[in-house]
Amino acid sequence: MNLDVKKIINLHKIDTRLQEIHDEKGGLPDIINNQIEKVDELKNKIHDSEEEIKLLNKDKSACTLSIEDFNSNLDKHNKMMDKVKNNKEYDALLLEIDHLKKENNELQSKVDNINSSLDNLSTSNEEVNKEIDLLSEKINQNESELKEKSVEFSIEEKLLEKDKKKVMSEIGDSLFLDKYKEDNESLVAAVYNGSCGSCFNSLPAQSLQDTKNGKLITCPSCSIYLYFDKDSQ
Ligand SMILES: [Zn+2]
Repeated sequence: MNLDVKKIINLHKIDTRLQEIHDEKGGLPDIINNQIEKVDELKNKIHDSEEEIKLLNKDKSACTLSIEDFNSNLDKHNKMMDKVKNNKEYDALLLEIDHLKKENNELQSKVDNINSSLDNLSTSNEEVNKEIDLLSEKINQNESELKEKSVEFSIEEKLLEKDKKKVMSEIGDSLFLDKYKEDNESLVAAVYNGSCGSCFNSLPAQSLQDTKNGKLITCPSCSIYLYFDKDSQ
């Protein structure tokens, strides 16, 4: 195996790992921010729903008062029934009683509707609160994971950077190095599952075999340098 090839592969593996660390660290803060946003959204939902509950309860007490009034009103009308003097008065009173009863039925059904709305709101609030608890727990986990990772990664990153410097100083091909420094992502890739790790076109059997024998080949489709890394298969 040509020494420079081995070093180029080594260099690319170091950079791939550095990129992985960057991605992993970069991912968690985004995830945490999204989760915090979601919790705020859910808390607003609870707040709105509590306001609605207040209004409904106000409505409900008003209805309940009216229903109490109805009962004493009905009593009054029933007593008047005893004192009617003719059919005309009787009919008029009956009509009034009917009207009162109808009004009362409407109030009762309004109270029923309010009660079922209140039930629905309280069920949905319970669910939302559960969701908030779950998310808050996840946020805590992610935050402590991020903290741990930052410590763990900062050590690994320092070691990788040190290795990278060393490997680069040992690569003799300055033309390659110049290009690599410019853009390390589109110059070298590892073979993945029999295909180019960059353009994902399948490789001819002979090229694949060459990479397995430790050679650095260029991809027939996208011309990137390819090597075989048995750890990343
Ligand atoms: Zn390719």
